[in-house]
Amino acid sequence: MKKIVTRFAPSPTGYLHIWSLRTVLFNFLFTRKNHWRFLLRIEDTDRTRYVEGSIENMIGILKQVWLEPDEWPNNPWEVWPYLQSERLDIYQKYITELLEKDMAYRCFCSTERLEELRKEQTELWLPTKYDKKCRYLTKEEIQEKINAWETYTIRLKVPDNQTVEFVDEVRGKISINTKEVDDQVLMKTDGFPTYHFAVVIDDHLMWVTDIIRWDEWIPSTPKHILLYDAFGWEAPNYSHVPPLVWADRKKLSKRTGDVAVEKYLEKWYLTESLMNFLALLWWNPKTTEEFFTMDELIKRFELKNIQRAGAYFDIERLDFFNSHYLKTLDSEYLYSKFREYLKKYDKEFDEKISSFDEEYNKKIFFELKTRIRYFWEFKNFVSFFYDEPKLLQKDILMNKKMKIDDLETVKKWFEIALDILNSRNSDFLSVDEIKNIFMEKILENNMKNGQVLWPVRCALSWEEYSPGALELIYILWVEESKKRIQNNLNNLA
Ligand code: GLU
Repeated sequence: MKKIVTRFAPSPTGYLHIWSLRTVLFNFLFTRKNHWRFLLRIEDTDRTRYVEGSIENMIGILKQVWLEPDEWPNNPWEVWPYLQSERLDIYQKYITELLEKDMAYRCFCSTERLEELRKEQTELWLPTKYDKKCRYLTKEEIQEKINAWETYTIRLKVPDNQTVEFVDEVRGKISINTKEVDDQVLMKTDGFPTYHFAVVIDDHLMWVTDIIRWDEWIPSTPKHILLYDAFGWEAPNYSHVPPLVWADRKKLSKRTGDVAVEKYLEKWYLTESLMNFLALLWWNPKTTEEFFTMDELIKRFELKNIQRAGAYFDIERLDFFNSHYLKTLDSEYLYSKFREYLKKYDKEFDEKISSFDEEYNKKIFFELKTRIRYFWEFKNFVSFFYDEPKLLQKDILMNKKMKIDDLETVKKWFEIALDILNSRNSDFLSVDEIKNIFMEKILENNMKNGQVLWPVRCALSWEEYSPGALELIYILWVEESKKRIQNNLNNLA
């Protein structure tokens, strides 16, 4: 079996873009399906764009969303180093080889000349390319310039009029004539490689067999293939994935909305939802199936099923997945995730609820998890479980819809509710148990459910919106429920 090696090769420029996360997911699924290695290489040769801490940040995020690579700078295997800035001598060795093979040449053109050239070409609507002036310098001319300490870059000697062809797993066959390909700079004047050179050297030396990346890189691929040919190396397989666009067809960018993965984590989306959502941006299972675990995704992932068209990034779909997983995943598991998120993103609330009984916290969480779309919403609905009870406004009790128009009935029902609770010498074991007792009383008195349960619910939660009265009694326990109803009854007297 062929050993599959994939990689994610970001520049450490500060944050992880949500569509990079999708690229990582595809690399990860493909590698896991084929049981081999997925590595993280850091393309940090552009030191001006380097942001301190971004590598650690990225690893942290990848771990959090279960896409931990097998190898990365601090967790190396045989193909280290994984930072391009630590591989400079490797690039020197290979650029010398290319010069010796006459497949690259020194270019002494000044930045001003190149700028001028670009301007002229742009004015004439021509593609901007190097005019190959230095390609035809004689050996003597080159030596003279070197002796005179003139600085130079090193460019690829793109062969004339050849067809470069490759089969992209997503796009099919792509071919391009070398007339269209620029004599790419491979080595800058400061001795640092350009992306195009380093990426080929590294992918080869790291045994990368499959490159899955954003389709912006399609025009660069022929340059890379020419380099593989120049060295006599076998080129990897390419799959270029289309961009993400917002549902209104605008390309996903910093200006159009949240692009940093952190933003989604800070909104406390579950990893299950995020992965399911991102996966379906590539792939339409062509059935009514919508929900996939990571294992199922690994099993079903096929490069050829990646869609060619840009994928719509519809945030409501993500919310939909999140509500689904909040309703269906195991409650204990969700609770532990919830506490993990709290510890990370809302320490204050975490401390607050830590001072309550764990069983009490769980009961509240289990009851509310089906009503929220994200973990962070939880806090908005639970003040009456954690704050000092308040007395409610009397006018909330009068409720036309519930057919409550006098406070006497309300008082009567507070008293009946208190009787029920006073007759208990232990807590209720389930909401159903409470329901049976209350329903019996309501029938006996020939009342409507709302007429009774509305005021009781309000007395327990003092809010217009909360779980139902019976759920509240179950969560608050008998003693606390009694206290709250009694206080409100006294207030009506
Ligand atoms: N460093 C490049 C980037 O940031 C990597 C492109 C590639 O995957 O070849 O997108």
